[in-house]
Amino acid sequence: MQDQVKQVAEMVQKAHRIVAFTGAGISTESGIPDFRSSGGLFDQLTGRRFTGEEALSVPFFEQHPELFFENYRNTLDFPEAKPNSGHLFFKRIEDMGKKVTIVTQNIDNLHEAAGNSTVWTVHGNATQWKTVRTNQVVSNNELCWDENGLAVDSKGESLRPNIVLYGDQLDQQVMMESARAVSKADLLFVIGTSLNVVPASYLIDDFRGENAVLINQTEVADMSRFNLFIQEKSGQFLEKVWKRLSNEEV
Ligand code: NAD
Repeated sequence: MQDQVKQVAEMVQKAHRIVAFTGAGISTESGIPDFRSSGGLFDQLTGRRFTGEEALSVPFFEQHPELFFENYRNTLDFPEAKPNSGHLFFKRIEDMGKKVTIVTQNIDNLHEAAGNSTVWTVHGNATQWKTVRTNQVVSNNELCWDENGLAVDSKGESLRPNIVLYGDQLDQQVMMESARAVSKADLLFVIGTSLNVVPASYLIDDFRGENAVLINQTEVADMSRFNLFIQEKSGQFLEKVWKRLSNEEV
């Protein structure tokens, strides 16, 4: 284990362009669960149970807005969550002078809160809001909740969280910039992701650099693409790497 800390610290020291491709697992140490509620969502009016995927789809939002927002408040909204050592690590190495790009599937705003300058959010950001009619992102000060528990702006216009729902298009500019950063990186971290969600997971296929490190509690498909697999909590592990890099501890 000590060896892995040393190996990763050396890889970071040597690297110029670093990409962190992250998923829900990097945020579990901030108290955000890494999978959707297994039982799905239950509609007390109809007695129907919806899967997590259904409850996060465009048709569901259009047909069951009250249930959609109930699900949003229960499973996607974590206003108290703070960046953990995993998120902070990438801000710290950016401050050391490394060119760091975050490509994240997460919607929790924790990489942005950690302070990294380049964060591509492939699935959007659940702390931002946009109008349903025009897709314009609105200031959070505009957010109100109506008497049915639906999000509206101060003029009563319907809002939705600025996230990619099943049935939405991915932002092509975000995908392009993410792929470009991965293709130019010499060190790639893949952290806290099952790599099951496509097309987001295809983004790491463009990596041509020297070292690819997986930090995940479980194995993923195609382990052969990684030089190093660290089966530890990402925040815990990256804190040790940071201590080594900053010479606080060997
Ligand atoms: P996933 O739930 O499919 O996989 C998470 C992976 O992280 C698992 O393999 C697990 O073993 C690992 N893991 C959990 N805790 C870890 C830790 N402390 N350190 C290292 N590894 C850890 O996540 P995914 O691949 O991101 O796909 C889920 C989808 O759901 C994504 O599209 C994502 O946008 C969304 N989602 C986001 C959040 C969030 O924003 N925090 C939370 C839940 C789901």
